[in-house]
Amino acid sequence: MKKILVAALAASIMVNAGQAAAGCFNINAEAATIIQPGVITGFNSNNTGFNSTSPDAADYRATGGTAQGSMSISTFIPAGCVDSMAVSSTGSIVEVKDKYGYEDMKADLAELKAEYPTYFNYSSLGVTADGRNIYEAVIGNKNAGTHVLITASIHAREYITTMLVMEQMEYILQSADKGAFDGRSLKSWLNDVCIHFVPMVNPDGVAISQSGIDAIRSEKLKDKIREAYDNDLEAKRTELPFEEYLKYWKANANGVNLNDNFNALTSKIKIKTDKPSSEAYYGTPGSEAETKALSALADRTHFKAAVNYHSTGSVLYWNFTDNKLVEHSRDLANNIKVLSGYTMIDNGEEGGSFKTYLGTRRQPVTNVTVEVGKGKAPVDFSEFEAIWDQNRHVPFYVMKWAKEKGK
Ligand SMILES: [Zn+2]
Repeated sequence: MKKILVAALAASIMVNAGQAAAGCFNINAEAATIIQPGVITGFNSNNTGFNSTSPDAADYRATGGTAQGSMSISTFIPAGCVDSMAVSSTGSIVEVKDKYGYEDMKADLAELKAEYPTYFNYSSLGVTADGRNIYEAVIGNKNAGTHVLITASIHAREYITTMLVMEQMEYILQSADKGAFDGRSLKSWLNDVCIHFVPMVNPDGVAISQSGIDAIRSEKLKDKIREAYDNDLEAKRTELPFEEYLKYWKANANGVNLNDNFNALTSKIKIKTDKPSSEAYYGTPGSEAETKALSALADRTHFKAAVNYHSTGSVLYWNFTDNKLVEHSRDLANNIKVLSGYTMIDNGEEGGSFKTYLGTRRQPVTNVTVEVGKGKAPVDFSEFEAIWDQNRHVPFYVMKWAKEKGK
């Protein structure tokens, strides 16, 4: 893919023409965005460090600094460009394209493993009703003391989040050998931290939203999807023609909204229908293969932080009923806010959601729901460049947060 540079920050950091001429300019600009939100660290012609304030700084201060989650990063990246978070401009595997789908992801996971065998591995957590794998990809040391989780596309029409996290994976992997973050080599970080990605929780649903009913192989499931349409028409949840309706599909192929299907805070679930639906049917708690797969992963791994990607709205949900780690969630959300510019929202859907499953369990997991994009889901492909800029560094900060503050 074409790697997108951070244009706004680059403009702020271009204080010395010599630096640009030396070919370090873009790399330093990249590094600067990683060092500390709100402060750009750069280098003058003598390679002496300087700090300059970015457009985000006021926002950063306004959020309360330390009280609400500053990272207190005091790193100085050496002048040698390769020591900073250099990103190679060649060798890109994950292609940025409209409707990046299950087959794209599957092929890219295999390629990433072939290219980066030292740092990367993946496996299937389970198989969906229509026979697709629910993949988990892992970057870093599986025996590390700190594990973090990043999920995407639990809601079918929010599939742009899969491409985002696949890009995040490749970005980390490209930087793994020569990159540094917060004053340490990325290699050393990845020895201490293990980042788990579930890039497409709901592959059947994504297939429906991207390609319609013909993407589903099972005749039984096709019938269920038609039944969901009739149910949603009857309940006036849609007025769209069938083909159009499927583009906004949110559930899995059984017509169950997976993010309401977890066995958590079930007393708060307000039943809307007992039949398949594009989004209104919650199923029986824990009934779906996708829900089982994520629940089992959370049960056997002690995650110290989790980010669940959704779209849309450019907001961060960090609180919910019975969240056992409210201040931790607020703090993590604040860091993501500084990176992304998204608005923090102090509530969200509760009963049966994955965030509730994580946040209310006996060993609770600090987690934030990140809603990317602005337009109606499925978010238009043209938004991806902005989404990438806002989220490319999120895994690095989640990793750091989890290591320093995660429970
Ligand atoms: Zn969603």
